[in-house]
Amino acid sequence: MPLTLLSEHHPLASASEQLKLLADTNGGSPFETRLDQAGLFPLRATGMTVFQINVGKLCNQTCKHCHVDAGPDRTESISRETAELCVKALAGTDIPTVDLTGGAPELNPNFRWLVEQARKLGRHVIDRCNLSVLLIPAQADLAEFLATHRVEIIASLPSYHASQTDAQRGDGIFEKSIEALRRLNQLGYGQPDSGLALNLVYNPVGAFLPPKQAAIEAQFRKELRARHHVEFNHLYTITNMPLSRYLEFLVVSGNYKQYMERLANAFNPVAAAGVMCRSMISVGWDGALYDCDFNQMLDLSVDHGAPAHIRDFDPAQLHHRQITTRNHCYGCTAGAGSSCGGAVTEAGSEGG
Ligand code: SF4
Repeated sequence: MPLTLLSEHHPLASASEQLKLLADTNGGSPFETRLDQAGLFPLRATGMTVFQINVGKLCNQTCKHCHVDAGPDRTESISRETAELCVKALAGTDIPTVDLTGGAPELNPNFRWLVEQARKLGRHVIDRCNLSVLLIPAQADLAEFLATHRVEIIASLPSYHASQTDAQRGDGIFEKSIEALRRLNQLGYGQPDSGLALNLVYNPVGAFLPPKQAAIEAQFRKELRARHHVEFNHLYTITNMPLSRYLEFLVVSGNYKQYMERLANAFNPVAAAGVMCRSMISVGWDGALYDCDFNQMLDLSVDHGAPAHIRDFDPAQLHHRQITTRNHCYGCTAGAGSSCGGAVTEAGSEGG
């Protein structure tokens, strides 16, 4: 299994090194300039409909594109105390959706407690699941737990070809993913009228932008049904963000400059107006508040006077906060934008 950037002591394991690289636009316009030209600067939140919690960086996989640099060696993990602060903050709002991500969020000892508490508050819960976690012996009852609590599953599957999925997510992951999907289907996930939503996420395997969502969704449905008897509800396309391990891939493969140009050239003001950070709040494993999971990985906490920790959560101040943007944001505004569950560009990964 490949190593995380952190365990390799790679310079790009550091958020400040990533930001340094991203700050150089190679003669192109900084993201803020393009926002300004589109009449969107400064970018402001329009409310909060998603309360995302990144419960930590532990994962049983080490996917090549992971913007979290998650893996088996990561130890960052939300404590019960911070999880309780999240639930308290949530209870004081009417935010309808709780989005749990990681790493593999299910490996966190507080994951199931968070699901139960959020459901008791009547909120819709999303689990960003890597699928293979469902096959870990210690998680034998996980699929049933998710079904019992009516948790929506959003899972990455970059290809219906084993070789391409394994190239991005690790040897043998495709077979495990298919087995997990079949198991979820047996429980009713992805089946008509079950109310158990099973949504897939496609991201390109190389340094290019995703194709049109409707076309690739239809192709996945046909292939997965015919080859593997697997059903799902929707497939969302996301653009690979130039962060962490994908950023390292771009640099090592000599694609970085070209990829950033491609993102900037595809800037779409409509996608920019609908970026997910405008309607969400993202909480880190240590309780720090961010505009999105990508900013979280760059250590760019909420700014401009908004409270920066869950213990100081104040919906009134956060609702219309100014959002912190940098050049990685071009990944959210390219083409049709990234989409991943519900709103346009909502939450960028399946959790690692
Ligand atoms: S990277 Fe985050 S802050 Fe930037 S546009 Fe995307 S969602 Fe918003």
